[in-house]
Amino acid sequence: MAIVESIAESAGGRRRLRLANPASLAPLGEIDVANEADVADAVERARKAQVEWARTSFRERQRLLERAVRLLVEGQDEFLDVIVSETGKPREEAQVTEILAACDALQFYAKRAQRILADRTVPLHLMKTKKLRISYRPLGVVGIITPWNFPFLLALNPTVQALVAGNAVLLKPSEVTPFSGRLVEKLLRAAGFPDGVFQLLLGDGETGVALVSAGLDKISFTGSVATGRRVAEACARQLIPCTLELGGKDPMIVCRDADLERSAAGAVYGAFANAGQICVSTERVYVVDEVADEFTRKVLEKTAALRQGPEGESDVGAMIDAAQVGVIEEHLADAQARGAKVLTGGRRNPNWPGLYFEPTVVTDVNHEMQLMREETFGPVLPIMRVRDENEALELANDTRFGLNASVWTRDKRRGTELAKSIRSGSAVVNDCLVTYAIPESPFGGRGESGIGQVNGEAGLKSYCHAQSIVIDRFGAKQEFIWFPYTRRKGRWLRRITRWVWGSPLGRLLS
Ligand code: NAD
Repeated sequence: MAIVESIAESAGGRRRLRLANPASLAPLGEIDVANEADVADAVERARKAQVEWARTSFRERQRLLERAVRLLVEGQDEFLDVIVSETGKPREEAQVTEILAACDALQFYAKRAQRILADRTVPLHLMKTKKLRISYRPLGVVGIITPWNFPFLLALNPTVQALVAGNAVLLKPSEVTPFSGRLVEKLLRAAGFPDGVFQLLLGDGETGVALVSAGLDKISFTGSVATGRRVAEACARQLIPCTLELGGKDPMIVCRDADLERSAAGAVYGAFANAGQICVSTERVYVVDEVADEFTRKVLEKTAALRQGPEGESDVGAMIDAAQVGVIEEHLADAQARGAKVLTGGRRNPNWPGLYFEPTVVTDVNHEMQLMREETFGPVLPIMRVRDENEALELANDTRFGLNASVWTRDKRRGTELAKSIRSGSAVVNDCLVTYAIPESPFGGRGESGIGQVNGEAGLKSYCHAQSIVIDRFGAKQEFIWFPYTRRKGRWLRRITRWVWGSPLGRLLS
């Protein structure tokens, strides 16, 4: 059963999609796919609205964002109903990862954007007759394209950052979870954002293609490597910047001296939270031989205690997209054909009709297997025994991806050193997943995991151009180096070069 299905065209000639709840397979509703003309109209409205929006003060933007936080807190149950119905996540999981994290992002940038983006005067080391001011100017109209795994947070968070920096935003959420995109629109409209400053475009790849070719000023993309590459190519053709937050294959290194109780609980959470559909899910475990049996035993014990299903309390939700179930099955079949052992799980949950895949633990894996090389994006935890931490490190770095990683050891200093040796955008010591939820932390991958960073000061500034404005301080009639060039000037310049860069005192002062 597909969660998104193409059906007949709507009256306006747009393609129409029908959606289903992945947990119950009950119908959820239909959307029309915005086409090239819809995108062009939205861009025109955004361009007009952005001019006024860029003139508003940070205080005004803060007021609107703080109103959005209040509305989100008051309406959280209603928001959760929608998110849960189109993702099949446990309600408590959606509460933490979508609502709580969204409130934090809204409030964080509302309070801090003014300080982070205020004009700065930079003291000059040498050219004392000038003053340098750096001004963070909005880029203009930003296109934001998002995936289905955290459909509310991943749409709202970049949107808030782009808006607070003075840009207009066109958001295209995933066609698998469009109704969470509608929640973003509803929230920002109710908070009082002016018409045209934020616009929602529902649709699939057709809308995405139109958006990335619409002459915008930046694309902020979160999604798969394959689509990210296409987006980057389109941006390169237009010479516009893009941020790409793509997939991952995050390693977990369990050292000899790790707290095995916490490590096993962390592995189970890191691999099975959000049913493994997190870009920073734990997708590979490397555990040192001496502690591997004990660690695996604890992982299996904790996995057996997990509950799954649409009724009552549950831990591991449904898969959101039917196609992803196919990827999991393919990776497991390939691993088993090459000698891997499935210790638990390994199949769709037979007790429910929805897209539930049982939490799965696999051992006897190696890097020949798709399961250890490609993003699985499902509730599968492969555990590989290694001789020592050095071998773990070598294997952790044997990947095209580089998003997040975790190291588990009682020696935090050594853990930090190991983390620094992993080629990844971020890393965690004795914890997992948490990085994206820390707004101070820049977040973004290396290798095929992406380009650029979101969140934190670096992320917020990426929605601006740091314009440098150099101001002459004294207004002399003429600068020494201006025309005419004379032999006398040349002699002076040579002397200056010698004084400043050719003497210890000069080097100290320069
Ligand atoms: P996807 O690439 O299939 O789709 C992402 C978005 O791109 C959707 O909105 C889709 O409609 C749109 N799109 C499709 N074709 C397009 C095109 N040609 N041009 C422009 N837009 C197009 O990804 P997905 O399956 O929705 O999401 C899962 C992927 O997202 C996983 O690989 C996951 O790791 C990744 N992800 C990354 C992060 C991160 O921050 N690094 C976070 C969450 C998810």
